[in-house]
Amino acid sequence: METRVVKVGDVLIGGKNPVVVQTMCNTHTYDVEATVDQCLRLAAAGAQLVRITVPGLQDVPHVREIRDRLRAAGCQVPLVADIHFSSETAIAVASVVEKVRINPGNFHKDHAEARRQFGRFLEECKRCGTAIRIGLNHGSLGAYIVERFGNTPHAMALAAMEWIEMCIEADFWQVVVSLKASNTVVMIEAYRELARMMQERGVVFPLHVGVTEAGNGDSGRIKSCVAISTLLSEGIGNTVRVSLTEPPENELPVAQYLAARYSPCHSDAPSCHSERSEGISSLTPRDLTILRAACDYGKPLLDRTIDTVSFPDLEPEFAAYLTDELLQACRRKFYRPEYIACPGCGRTMYNLQEAFEAVKARTGHLQNVVIAVMGCIVNGPGEMADADYGYVGEGGGKVTIYRGKEPVLRHIPDSEAVDRLVELIENDHR
Ligand code: SF4
Repeated sequence: METRVVKVGDVLIGGKNPVVVQTMCNTHTYDVEATVDQCLRLAAAGAQLVRITVPGLQDVPHVREIRDRLRAAGCQVPLVADIHFSSETAIAVASVVEKVRINPGNFHKDHAEARRQFGRFLEECKRCGTAIRIGLNHGSLGAYIVERFGNTPHAMALAAMEWIEMCIEADFWQVVVSLKASNTVVMIEAYRELARMMQERGVVFPLHVGVTEAGNGDSGRIKSCVAISTLLSEGIGNTVRVSLTEPPENELPVAQYLAARYSPCHSDAPSCHSERSEGISSLTPRDLTILRAACDYGKPLLDRTIDTVSFPDLEPEFAAYLTDELLQACRRKFYRPEYIACPGCGRTMYNLQEAFEAVKARTGHLQNVVIAVMGCIVNGPGEMADADYGYVGEGGGKVTIYRGKEPVLRHIPDSEAVDRLVELIENDHR
């Protein structure tokens, strides 16, 4: 699907350009030193765009300092500001970074006011030459759209189209769109529908594709690859992020593998993947077996043109494990709990990676349950989408535990929180 081309600093997204690899810092943005160091490491490892969280207006000067220090160090990697709610922060940071990611539906509870603020934001981005990503996630759609259409892939695509129409009306074209979900079936359906709607509209903006809150380890990689490869193989997707609850450096080889496998290579761009080959070569033979299997079998499993897979050439125990993981990632069989875990970012106020490992270690025996482990109390609950239980860090060593969308245990010391979560689930399932 050929899209418009969006320029983010020196990086081109869409059109005939290779798939762009990006990731996000998990440092606190106010910690300028740590964020600059992480951006430099990520850029050196092949990240073509680096996103940093900007929780509020007080962080805008930090972003400016981070940008200035990167440029002084000779690093030109474009920065993407990640905004969740504050339209004023989005407007203030637009002149500082190359791209701003927003969910305009969250700009204000009153939809008319959200539209007004989005209009102001577009004017500022136009003035500064800043690109935007309209980033809507399953689980964080505005109430106005959920009330009318439910929390569905169709509603996600419709919500995106409303903001896209506003961009077109404003004669603003530096637009990338994403519709992420943790559920691979929902995510694929949403992107396919949006691609169809944009084609019908006759304006096709580039798409940023990713599975949100994919978790970590093999399962995070498999879940990301089955869904992202399905879309890329259909020509849907121009930039990717593989979100893992791990150091962001670990995301890059997986994203680079996907970009290399699915990027269009043209005679006028003969070395389109060469600068990323170092990252791919860091993948072990086991990693490559897993990624290849996810890309080979993800789409037929998700589209139900096959019902299972087999790996006769692999050692039987690994073959059985890989089969189970693939089926679970494609939502064809649930042999263990389904985990949702955000990658963490500058809003995370506790050791998310450690907590996620602890939750997995204590709940791996459960079945037919979706457990979310989220990095912050501000966005985590909204982003958990269809989780049955949630473990959400409050900061200050405290955790809130959710049953569905309801916080049932608040301010639990993190030393006790995993026990309390397991107790809650086991009592509910007695
Ligand atoms: Fe960051 Fe996780 Fe909070 Fe999202 S839910 S803003 S990734 S800490």
